[in-house]
Amino acid sequence: MATLNSTLGGFAHPDTFSSVFEEVSKANVQLNVAERLWASWYLWMQNDTLATGIMSLALHELFYFGRCIPYLIISYIPYFNKYKLQQQKIPTLKEQWDCASLVLLTHFTVELPQIWLFHPLATYFGMQYGVPFPKLSTMALQIAVFFIMEDTWHYWFHRALHYGPLYKMIHKVHHTYSAPFGLAAEYASPIEVMLLAVGTVGGPILWVSLTGDLHLVTMYVWILGRVFQAIDSHSGYDFPWSLRHFLPFWAGAAHHDTHHERFIGNYASSFRWWDYLLDTESGPEAAKRRRERRLKALKAKKAE
Ligand SMILES: [Zn+2]
Ligand SMILES: [Zn+2]
Repeated sequence: MATLNSTLGGFAHPDTFSSVFEEVSKANVQLNVAERLWASWYLWMQNDTLATGIMSLALHELFYFGRCIPYLIISYIPYFNKYKLQQQKIPTLKEQWDCASLVLLTHFTVELPQIWLFHPLATYFGMQYGVPFPKLSTMALQIAVFFIMEDTWHYWFHRALHYGPLYKMIHKVHHTYSAPFGLAAEYASPIEVMLLAVGTVGGPILWVSLTGDLHLVTMYVWILGRVFQAIDSHSGYDFPWSLRHFLPFWAGAAHHDTHHERFIGNYASSFRWWDYLLDTESGPEAAKRRRERRLKALKAKKAE
């Protein structure tokens, strides 16, 4: 690995991870603990594709199931029921278990080759993975761009997946649960998983191929944000402290829960602007606004 070796110097067949970490720490006092651990991991593994692959898979499982567990727990605590969007529909343990099994199977079959392919593909387009890590402001800006790109991709492809034949062939699986819960975020057909994964990974790849500036750690923070967004939007809970109450254009759970309940409209993932601009908002409030607009148009016609 050219980047790390040139920064840190070579190592003569270290035995254990902790001995590598000690060496790295001694020689690189300017690095923080996370950066030292990161560098030690790559130096200890001595195979960068494998090192990234294992780390990506482990982080994905940790982010996904780690974020789902709190929702799983609160679904059994009656206190939280007042924040549930579709209060009559509490998922059973069996439903959640069946859902988790399919998601896990998808992770280890459909997603595994893609996760493995990511390192060679992204580094070919210029992604870095050395130390030190990029500045927080750089990461924040890039992640904001990725959110906007993914949301756009998601809106159009999700809307297309609701076209009759495509819905029956591909998207119906994801709509198994009309009252979604966290674990259902990635419950989908393999084709849909691949199609929507392009929106998550394709944006950063396009970005790095145009700017030449992207670090793997930024990618991980982006994936963390995207996984949390997907799980939160499927959680079925809208809390007073949910992000959408502070950021009015953030979609949140209310937006996507309505999509699962009504099967139509609210196609975007993170933001509300596409559905607003293209008049595909779902739910009673949106229907009321649409009615009012039509009434106004009718009145205007009569006045002519
Ligand atoms: Zn849908
Ligand atoms: Zn969904």
